[in-house]
Formats: sequence, structure tokens, C-alpha cells
Amino acid sequence: NQDAVASPSPSVSVFGNERRWADTTSYNTKKKLQAWFQLANGDWELGKIISTSGNESVITSDGKVLTVKSDSLVPANPDILDGVEDLMQLSYLNEPSVLYDLQYRYNQDMIYTKAGPVLVAINPFKKVPLYGNDFIEAYRNKATENPHVYAIADTAIREMIRDEVNQSIIISGESGAGKTETAKIAMQYLAALGGGSGIEYEILKTNPILEAFGNAKTLRNDNSSRFGKLIEINFSETGKISGARIQTYKLHLKSVNDYKYLRQSDCCSIDGVDDAVNFHIVKEALDIVHVSMEDQESVFAMLSAVLWLGNVSFTVIDSENHVEPVADECLVTVAELIGCKVEELKLPLSTRKMRVGNDTIIQKLTLSQAMDTRDALAKSIYACLFEWLVEQINKSLAVGKRRTGRSISILDIYGFESFERNSFEQFCINYANERLQQHFNRHLFKLEQEEYIQDGIDWTKVDFEDNQDCLNLFEKKPLGLLSLLDEESTFPNGTDLTFANKLKQHLQSNSCFRGDRGKAFTVSHYAGEVTYDTTAFLEKNRDLLHMDSIQLLSSCSCHLPQIFASNMLAQSEKSVVGPLHKAGGADSQKLSVATKFKGQLFQLMKRLESTTPHFIRCIKPNNNQSPRSYNQGLVLQQLRCCGVLEVVRISRSGFPTRMTHQKFARRYGFLLLENTNSQDPLSVSVAILHQFGILPEMYQVGYTKLFFRTGQIGMLEDTRNRTL
Ligand code: ADP
Ligand code: MG
Repeated sequence: NQDAVASPSPSVSVFGNERRWADTTSYNTKKKLQAWFQLANGDWELGKIISTSGNESVITSDGKVLTVKSDSLVPANPDILDGVEDLMQLSYLNEPSVLYDLQYRYNQDMIYTKAGPVLVAINPFKKVPLYGNDFIEAYRNKATENPHVYAIADTAIREMIRDEVNQSIIISGESGAGKTETAKIAMQYLAALGGGSGIEYEILKTNPILEAFGNAKTLRNDNSSRFGKLIEINFSETGKISGARIQTYKLHLKSVNDYKYLRQSDCCSIDGVDDAVNFHIVKEALDIVHVSMEDQESVFAMLSAVLWLGNVSFTVIDSENHVEPVADECLVTVAELIGCKVEELKLPLSTRKMRVGNDTIIQKLTLSQAMDTRDALAKSIYACLFEWLVEQINKSLAVGKRRTGRSISILDIYGFESFERNSFEQFCINYANERLQQHFNRHLFKLEQEEYIQDGIDWTKVDFEDNQDCLNLFEKKPLGLLSLLDEESTFPNGTDLTFANKLKQHLQSNSCFRGDRGKAFTVSHYAGEVTYDTTAFLEKNRDLLHMDSIQLLSSCSCHLPQIFASNMLAQSEKSVVGPLHKAGGADSQKLSVATKFKGQLFQLMKRLESTTPHFIRCIKPNNNQSPRSYNQGLVLQQLRCCGVLEVVRISRSGFPTRMTHQKFARRYGFLLLENTNSQDPLSVSVAILHQFGILPEMYQVGYTKLFFRTGQIGMLEDTRNRTL
């Protein structure tokens, strides 16, 4: 009996409730099997089964005796498997068992756990003694096997050198889950192993700059950092860091609400002076990445201009609600900061040039149009500023003249989101995650395929999960979510409701789509169903920055606004989409936000596809940023969203249970009723398979191992346990 527990099958026998718990009554009673039962609040608790009759089981938990429905029980693993470092080692791989394993480890500051090829990292929200030179040395020397970001980074370096293939480390998770910290930890390891030139120091210094401008609390509601970041670290042939390049995927998705919030703040205190220390750190970092004093001043001037612009107000000048900006301190300061006359600034904030046929007419803006125009200008300046800074950093980091050798890219990107109310932002983010998931699936498939081929298994019998249907729902032309959104965005009379109706009319046949009541629709994502509310979809998808504003910037006397304007122009020139519609005039030629987003995503995927990926999924254990608090529901929802449970499911959809012929023969050989002539492990194994009537489609015999479909080993294990 001890043996049964001490050497669990290498992978798995059952999943969830696949096996009817009641079937095992005979030995449940005898062995007081452990099972998970669910409390009213949804949390899982461990109980011991005392007896089972009909559909009811009596269990004890914490000294209490309870009666529960037998089929609501979920099998728990033997104690010996508490805190295994790879979830794949669990005999029962169900949600409560996974939750428990992670929690067990988390409580002992073991925040990293493997889920097959994926590293799960739980945010400790406190200092944990897992980092620094001693640990780096241990991983470098392979003195420890504990799952760790260092181990992932180490594998990446080794595979880069061994296979001469670029690598990527893909880090995803919710806001506050620890992505950026994890990226830094990975960078530390790479810097330690590949350092020497000094460039690694500069690379580490880019973090405070990007954080200051990408997560500025004055500009964003605390932690709503909406940009993805890819940092590519280049290595020379000798494995030393030779340079780096950063790419941001700022999604241009900031809501106007951020600016309303901003407008309420006291504009005089925003200039960074209220946080002098941080400001100093950022300035120092800017020095290190060689941004000149002059440029630094321009940067802060632009930042200031954005903030002042947010405070520009309007007065209504006629009965049609047309407005003019108030020429107060705010307006004057903005004009001064960007280098134009107040009158020049007033114009694009209150009027719009429109082309009608061959004529140009000047249309006055209403209050809401003027406010949108102002916000769009502020957003664009800020986005351009951020892009420009990243470009400066890249210039400084591009030490090697030509990028030779190999690279490791670290992607820090926003994970799948599912809220009560999901809008355009979630729509884009989840679409991106659907693409990343496909990348992930394919990688996993490839890994599996390699193992099958190595062992002489026919891998064509392996059926893999694929989310291509869902991607088609988004990408198909002309009848996909993105195309229909763009089309409706260019219609002058298009509204969120006409958009929603169009979706229902055209997409009902896609199994991943469901039209809901009113303006809502539901998509079946790999991580679950998400219902989107189309309110403001069209508005958020239209790029509201008008040519008038771009022209203003290009005529400014300061050099940054000029650079920004030419960058904006370069973007909009590329972007003639569809036929022009009268009312939109020249502006409707600009690329929609969703289309730009898709373009960036495709570029990102192209870069990732040429690399060997390594995946890290960050998990936030509670919403209070407190250490030692583990909210089961919250963790479970993230595990589902970041596909950890999906990984498990995917790797089970082939022949997930593997055992060498030797082990199989040793473990179950004694169950044979008739002696086999041969002691050869393969012959013994085959005899066992026959005796138990395991169907041929349920297993495959490889050169060294037997491969089983999910659940097949369970029956053998049961018989073995009963016999022992
Ligand atoms: P994200 O980038 O996913 O939004 P961050 O990486 O900024 O999240 O992490 C949020 C906070 O969580 C950090 O400021 C830090 O306090 C804490 N944190 C994250 N990872 C760790 C870690 N490995 N050790 C200690 N604290 C961490
Ligand atoms: Mg972050």
C-alpha cells in the first residue's frame, strides 16, 4: 500500500468527475479516501469519505460530519503529492487539486510551480528569499530543479546557444499579477549570465523610464498600464549581451475617462514636483540611456502640455452649441509649451476643415466635438511622446552596429480579461490573447509531436484543441467582427446598435458567436465566454485625431511636436481604408484603432513565430496586494483565463499518460492471471493490456514507452490498490 502512494503514476489517471465516484464505493469505505467538496461560497475543502450509499456520501472534514451529493465530490490526491512542483505530477488533475497545490506551495514562499511546459508564478506581494547571486549561481550550475523564472531564463539561453534559434519568454497575467517584476527577474538572470559589456546596466535602467511614462499615476488610473512591451536582448556568438531593443504595443486604448479624472486634479502639482524622488530616478535613468538634457526638458514640456491641455475649457458662443476654447492660463501655457500662438491653437480646438467636392469648408465644433478633439490631441501627443522615448532608448541600446548573433525577447503583455461589463478594450485584449493562445497551442502541439515521433508513435491520431474558429470570427473578411466593426465605423449613420444588429445578422452561424439582447454579443473564447457590450465601440474604434490637429503640431516651433506630426502623418498616409464617405471627409481615411491593433499584433506574432517560446503565467492571489492571502475564486478564474487548466486539457487530449515498458510491467505485472512466457517488459505490458481489455484506440505502444488516453490508467490503478 505504501508503494502505491510513494510512486504515483507519472501523469494522470482521471480528470474532474469523469470517473463516477460512486463506482469506487467498495474501497472508499475501507481506505477513507479523500475528496474535495464545495462550500456555499464556492471554496473547496478537503474531506474524508466515510461511507457512500446511493447518491449520497458521508464525509468528515475538520471534525464535522457532513452528507453531500456523491457526484459533487471531486477526487483529492494522496498527501504524498502535497505541493508537487509540477502540476502534471498530480494523479488527479482537477481544479481543486490544482488550487490546493499552488496554495500549499505559496504558503511556503514557493511561488513558482510548473504546469507542464508553463511556469505559474503567484505574486507574493512581499520580498521572498528566492533571488540574487546565490540563486543565480544555483540555476546556472543546475544545482537546483525548483521551478523558477531563473530556470526559464537559463533554458532560454541554453537553447539559444544549442539550437541557434532565437528565444522568447512570454509573460502574461492580469494587472498587478507580477508580469513586470517577473520580466525584470528574467532580465536580471540574462544580465548576470551575459553581462560584461556594461550594456546590461543600461537595459535594466529602461524599466524606471518605461514605468514612469507608461504607468504614470497622474495620467492613468493607478495601475491601468495598457501597453504591452517586448524587449529583445541581443547576444553575441559568445553568449554576451551586445545590445537590446524595446518595442511597445501601446494600444491607444485609453478611455476619455482618464482625462476627466485628470481634469479634476490640480494642474499645478502635476509636473512631477510632487514626487521629487521618483522624478530624480527617472531623470537619472534618462541620463544613462543618453537622452540629452535638452531633450529631457522637451519631454517634460510635452508632458506638461498634455496635462494643461486636459484642463482647457470651452465657452458656448451661439445657439447651436458651437464653442470656443477659453483663453485662460491653461490655453496660453499649452501654446507656449508646444511653441505656437494662442490663436493657432484655438483653431483646431474649435473648428474643422472639411472637404466637400473640390471645396474646403470650415465647420464649427460643438461642445462635445471640441472636447473629443482636445482629448484626442492630448492622447496623441502623449502616445507620440512615449513612442519617441522608446525610440531614444533603442538608439542608446543598439550598441552593435548590425544586429548579429541571437536574441531572447521578453514579452510583458496584458492577459485575457473577463469582467461584468466588457467593452472595446477587452475586445481587443482578448482578441490578442486568442492569437497568443494559438501560438501557445501550436507550440505545445509541436512539443508533443516531437515526443511521439521520437518514440515511434503515429501522431496523426492526436487530436488537438484549436481556436481557429474563434480567430476566424474576429478576422474573416468581409464578415468577421473586425471587418464589420470597421465598416460600421465608417458609416455616418452607424451606431452601436446597428453594429450589434449587423453582427447578429452575419455571424450567427459561427459557433463561437452568440448575439444577445440589445447591444450585446457573446464570444466563446478559449478561456471562456465573454459578453461584450457594444456601447461606444464605434467611437473608440474611430481615430478621432483630425488633420487640423496634426497640421497645428507640424507648424509648431518646438522640435518634438514637429516630429510627432510627421510620425502621425506617416501613420495616416499608409491607411486608406475603403471608400470615402462624405461626412467623414479626409479623416475617415485614417486607420481604425482595431485595424492598427491587428497590424501590430500580426507584427508581434511574426516576430514570436521565429522563436522558441517559453511561457510564464502570473497570478494575483488577492485583490488587496497583501501577502499570505489566497483567494481561491480569484486564483481559479485567472488559471482558467490564462489557460493553465487549458494546458492540462490540451496535453490530455492526446495520449497524456506515459510510462516506460519497464515501469508498467513492474507496476501491474503482478495482476496478470496467467504467467507470460517471457519476462520481457514489453511482452508483460502487452499481456496486461489484453487482460484488462484496454481498447486499441486507447493506447499506443512506443519504442520505450506506452502512451495512454486520459483515464485509462485509472482502472488499472484501482484494481492494483484493491489487490494490494
Ligand atoms: P503587473 O506588471 O502584472 O501589473 P507588477 O509586476 O507591477 O504587476 O507587480 C505588482 C506588484 O506586485 C509589484 O509592485 C510588487 O510589489 C509585487 N510583486 C510582483 N512580483 C513580485 C515578486 N516576485 N516578489 C515580490 N513582489 C512582487
Ligand atoms: Mg506591468
